[in-house]
Amino acid sequence: MLEATLNFKLLEQCSKCGACFSICPSCMHIPGYDPRAVIQDILDGNHDKWLSSRHIWQCLECHHCLEICYQHYGFENAMTALRTIAAKKGIHPTQVKRGWEMFVKTSRLGEPALPARKKLGLPEPKASGAEEFKKLFALLKAAREKQENPEGKGSE
Ligand code: SF4
Ligand code: SF4
Repeated sequence: MLEATLNFKLLEQCSKCGACFSICPSCMHIPGYDPRAVIQDILDGNHDKWLSSRHIWQCLECHHCLEICYQHYGFENAMTALRTIAAKKGIHPTQVKRGWEMFVKTSRLGEPALPARKKLGLPEPKASGAEEFKKLFALLKAAREKQENPEGKGSE
């Protein structure tokens, strides 16, 4: 599955390089956060052990590693690929699940703090577009189901 989303040839170079470790904010500030170890395990076929690790959710997606990378690839791709697999398996931090459920329901990641906005003289926030989002989400879900099960097997 990972071979389809990640370029293992580029990851091989990554495992020998490690240059972006020194500019990655998460590497600098979070003990134990080390995409080099994650990449090595991906290459060794042991990515499963990271699916329940909090570290794959600690990538800030700041793109520093992409910017510095001579391959324009980056640690980030490995972390994103593992988060995608973990999320599909339902293994994600509670906050992520809560945020996603709220986003699907309201198309917002949080409720606007109306009293604070009023105090600051800010206008009422615009409608969230939740209904449009729900329609779009239903279309995307149907398209994905069709892609995963083109002949409609087992959909009776
Ligand atoms: S995108 Fe993630 S892995 Fe890359 S530098 Fe930022 S925090 Fe580090
Ligand atoms: S992402 Fe690029 S710069 Fe960072 S370790 Fe891999 S090859 Fe080196």
